[in-house]
Amino acid sequence: MTFPRIGVIGGGQLARMLAPAAEALGIRFSVFAETADAPATQVINEVTVGDYTDYPSLKAFAETVDVVTFDHEHVPPEHLEALVAAGHAVRPGPQALIFAQDKIRMRTKMDELGLPNPAWAEITSEADITAFADRVGYPFILKTPRGGYDGKGVRVIERLDEAVEWLSEVPQLLAEEKVDFTRELAVMVARSPMGQTAVWPVVETWQENGICKEAIAPAPDLSAEKARTITEAILTVAGTLDVTGVMAMEMFETADGFLINEFAMRPHNTGHWTQDGAVTSQFEQHLRAVLDLPLGSPAAREEVSVMVNILGADHEDLYQPYLHVMAHDPAVKVHLYGKSVRPGRKVGHVNAYGEDRAHVVARARHAADFIAGVDVDPHPQMPAPENLLADSDAGTEL
Ligand code: ADP
Repeated sequence: MTFPRIGVIGGGQLARMLAPAAEALGIRFSVFAETADAPATQVINEVTVGDYTDYPSLKAFAETVDVVTFDHEHVPPEHLEALVAAGHAVRPGPQALIFAQDKIRMRTKMDELGLPNPAWAEITSEADITAFADRVGYPFILKTPRGGYDGKGVRVIERLDEAVEWLSEVPQLLAEEKVDFTRELAVMVARSPMGQTAVWPVVETWQENGICKEAIAPAPDLSAEKARTITEAILTVAGTLDVTGVMAMEMFETADGFLINEFAMRPHNTGHWTQDGAVTSQFEQHLRAVLDLPLGSPAAREEVSVMVNILGADHEDLYQPYLHVMAHDPAVKVHLYGKSVRPGRKVGHVNAYGEDRAHVVARARHAADFIAGVDVDPHPQMPAPENLLADSDAGTEL
């Protein structure tokens, strides 16, 4: 037997972060990237640059690898079906991926499985809008069923004309009640073709303008009972849809339970904390799962792990503040994606971990914002540096 070659469609930061996991596992790794300077192409030798909507290019790439997987969910479903029909191992398969690609299909499926959904409706006419508004009232949420990410394609609707105007530009929309959530949660599972599963602890997430900004693992003060119900729900979804690879389920926590927001069937921003805070990172686990290898332990290594995204601000230079952050807190882990800075763009993240949650959150936020160039105090009142140094190998005095 030889070590397999995995092919990732999409050359973004997720593909980039899969690369070191593949290297460590001794798995050969190729990427089908949109552009020659995509984040993953900077660190991987085996790169094909092409258009993922062009079937012949996808097919040619699939011929060169043992298993095809993804860094995004935008490959047209009919191309995925055609690859499967041609005998390629596509993981996750199109029968599962469709529920991450199409939010109306996903809502219909969740209702079928009896899993908690916000009130929703498919909208194709003005009459549908009025009927939905009569049911849930204004404001409500409208979304594009396909192709949205980072809150692009999600709008709060205050008045009928806003909805009518949007509908005049697109064939179909998804309406949802505006959930009065207490916070957002996320959970991730890995599932292999042989059906082995592993679930990481549920995390609390924080989005700013529809973009994930923070994740705290485990979700503070989540009851064991709720964590169990959430874990059961994601296992039901993964098993019923025959998901392979890792999958994230995003949720709204409400006073009396939780409602499912959406799924991602690939490594996910809310799982980045696992790189430094879990025995097996989501990137390693995704490779193990899609290759049908035994899965690694999803257990947390640390009492509390916090991930904060570095969102581009006004400063293009990340290097100078990054030096400062490394010196200021030698126990914080910085992950950058090799992207140029644009306001609001995800250019990296930091992971911090420890025992005292408030303290870990403060360190991670400070490091991420400082690197981004957000105006923060360079020397905030934070834990005594000697405590941080005591836990690290860094030999320098601050
Ligand atoms: P995307 O696919 O772009 O990530 P989401 O559907 O996850 O879009 O929505 C992005 C964010 O918008 C969510 O994380 C949440 O903060 C908010 N949001 C989405 N749907 C609702 C809803 N039904 N009620 C309240 N807030 C919502």
